[in-house]
Amino acid sequence: MSLAILYRGPLASCNYDCPYCPFAKRHDPPELLAADRTALDRFTAWVRQTTDVPLSVLFTPWGEGLTRRWYREAMVALSHLPHVRRVVIQTNLAARVDWLADADARRAALWTTYHPGQVSRQRFLDRCARLSELGVRYSVGVVGLPEHLAEAQALRAALPAEVYLWVNAAEGHRYDAAEEALWTGLDPLFGYSVRPHLSLDRPCHAGETAISVDGDGTVRRCHFLPTPIGNLYDGSWRAALRPRPCPAATCDCHIGYVHLKPLGLRDVFAGGVLERIPAVWPHPAPDSARLADPGHVVG
Ligand code: SF4
Ligand code: SF4
Repeated sequence: MSLAILYRGPLASCNYDCPYCPFAKRHDPPELLAADRTALDRFTAWVRQTTDVPLSVLFTPWGEGLTRRWYREAMVALSHLPHVRRVVIQTNLAARVDWLADADARRAALWTTYHPGQVSRQRFLDRCARLSELGVRYSVGVVGLPEHLAEAQALRAALPAEVYLWVNAAEGHRYDAAEEALWTGLDPLFGYSVRPHLSLDRPCHAGETAISVDGDGTVRRCHFLPTPIGNLYDGSWRAALRPRPCPAATCDCHIGYVHLKPLGLRDVFAGGVLERIPAVWPHPAPDSARLADPGHVVG
């Protein structure tokens, strides 16, 4: 068995000011930053010591982690551990990426998001080019807001063909067929994001081979279910892992539904589940029958 861990510590600050985000330009007080660093150090030590299970780690900070030295150091350190299959962080790519030269590029990867209005397209592309130079795996994404479409199309045209660009459906935005087709032209897998997935009573890997961990080690099945199932640091997580159905009506975030068994997305993203890179890219058209099946999606 192997275990995917989504780690989210207390950090909630960001250097960007995205109008669609509650963490925009938020500042964390020094004591919270110190607590975040201590929690991350403890988690990193736990990963280092837990060698009997192959582990993959995705850091999903509320805000931006890579402007903080301790996240960069954790990425580098974990990438060199033989039992760590992959270590990934979600990032706006604002910080320089040269530090990744010290990481093992077979294991370190980035989930990057381009936020038009916060950074120029060229500056973002320069960061991507440096990642390619360093041989680091990365995906690039945008939030599918109408006002982002032209920028997203220009970004897609400028990125190397081998880099996958994903599109997240904007929260609260309804896509008509024509609009959905435009975004699907950029990301053939957009159909998975555009409608929430019915998940109630459906089997999900979350809580079996994927878990969510917060700064004090509390383990939950995923970021979207509040009930704890154990703790990382008292060992209770081991007995908590088992197959379970989902108790929520729907699952609408990629980091959740990628583990929803009936969708089969772990196969679609095999080898790149946490960094959101499809196994085969450029990807053939998605299974339209599955996307249209009301048993899989709603909305
Ligand atoms: S970069 Fe991410 S965390 Fe920062 S303000 Fe934008 S959406 Fe929020
Ligand atoms: S379907 Fe989504 S909400 Fe339900 S257990 Fe899986 S990840 Fe969590």
